Amino acid sequence: MVEKRQPIPVKEAIERVMKRVTHLSKEMVPLEEAYGRILAEPVRASHHVPPFDRSPYDGFAVRSVDTKGASGDSRLSFRVIDHIGAGSVSTCTVGAREAVRIMTGAPLPDGADAIVMLEQTVITGDRFTIRKPFEPLENVSLKGEDAQEGEIIVEAGTFIHPGVIAVLATFGYGQVKAAKKPVVGLLATGTELVDVSEPLEPGKIRNSNGPMIAAQLARMGIGCRLLGSLPDDEDACFELVKKAVDECDAVITTGGVSVGDFDFLPAVYARLGADVLFNKVQMRPGSVTTVAYAHNTFLFGLSGNPSACFVGFELFARPAFLAMMGNEKPFLPYEKAVLDVDFPKPNPFNRFIRAVYKSTPSGSLVLPAGFNKSNSVTSIARGNAFIVLPGGTRGFQKGDEVDVLIIGSEEGVSSWELN
Ligand code: AMP
Ligand code: MG
Repeated sequence: MVEKRQPIPVKEAIERVMKRVTHLSKEMVPLEEAYGRILAEPVRASHHVPPFDRSPYDGFAVRSVDTKGASGDSRLSFRVIDHIGAGSVSTCTVGAREAVRIMTGAPLPDGADAIVMLEQTVITGDRFTIRKPFEPLENVSLKGEDAQEGEIIVEAGTFIHPGVIAVLATFGYGQVKAAKKPVVGLLATGTELVDVSEPLEPGKIRNSNGPMIAAQLARMGIGCRLLGSLPDDEDACFELVKKAVDECDAVITTGGVSVGDFDFLPAVYARLGADVLFNKVQMRPGSVTTVAYAHNTFLFGLSGNPSACFVGFELFARPAFLAMMGNEKPFLPYEKAVLDVDFPKPNPFNRFIRAVYKSTPSGSLVLPAGFNKSNSVTSIARGNAFIVLPGGTRGFQKGDEVDVLIIGSEEGVSSWELN
């Protein structure tokens, strides 16, 4: 255990966490449950897409050679010999000045090499005329133009979003190999806590961190084992965390990591023989965020202060879980944006301000999402981003360009670039 609290830079804290990440084992997941998982194998095209030359329009399949010389003054006439919709194959071969009426998605009939769009014709009975020539393969959607058989379409380590689902379905993959999800235990500590359904009493507050973290996990497609909440009691906390460590890949606790008389998590880590990766980070809020590792299990000791708890989860727990699942882009994506208000406060440590980020036609703007102390809960509700102000600075003004981390997006980035 680290004896004296030595604050380390955020970047280093993240690196220490990421170094401990080990990949979870893989499993086959039915396609309908695959959204939000991470691909453990690349998706390879099992056939060409489209699998045959086809019409991208409703119209007529013709021989381009027969359209030569067509013009407004000299319209050329074609006879319709068959009529097919998507899913049907014409048994006819298109001959001179013949055509097959064809719908979007239907395969090009033998003999034909161009599609005349319905809008480009004048139809009378079983004939139509055109006023322009067509090139060979004009308006034809070619076999393999979207994907070639054997080609890798999506790499392993990719988040399975709806587009990836579409590709898996295209190639007939009813199951997909994905990393298992981490088993995460979640415990709120604090004698002052009552459950969401309980009435408030003097000195008590409701446990908001537990449900919040459960939702932060849910946003990543990860469930959790709700270990409930415990009063500030070292023995009770030790017993519960010890049991959870045996059963989980990670145990998240909130509260009790500070230096108060009732902050027992450091003692619990010591009794577990845990390797404390850090217990003080150069950041606000959440400088007391502690991450330890015991018996192949991460212990995320997040602050009880709601904003600090939220930030600690997003900065340290989120990328660790994503990386455990093999996600190659586990870090929050970041942008530059223009500060829309003055922020005169000094920033002794890196500051992560819950913020509202918005794109406007003239560029991206960002401003703090209201009351912004580490114990604020409302700014988490109003924010969609963090403004990141580097430590050792002060006096940011409206119009200054600042770094912004975007919260809640499916697509992250592969490295942590901020200090
Ligand atoms: P701690 O980290 O235990 O020192 O708690 C810091 C502050 O966060 C105190 O004001 C606690 O009452 C508050 N707090 C602790 N746990 C929670 C929780 N689960 N939900 C909401 N607030 C909490
Ligand atoms: Mg506490």
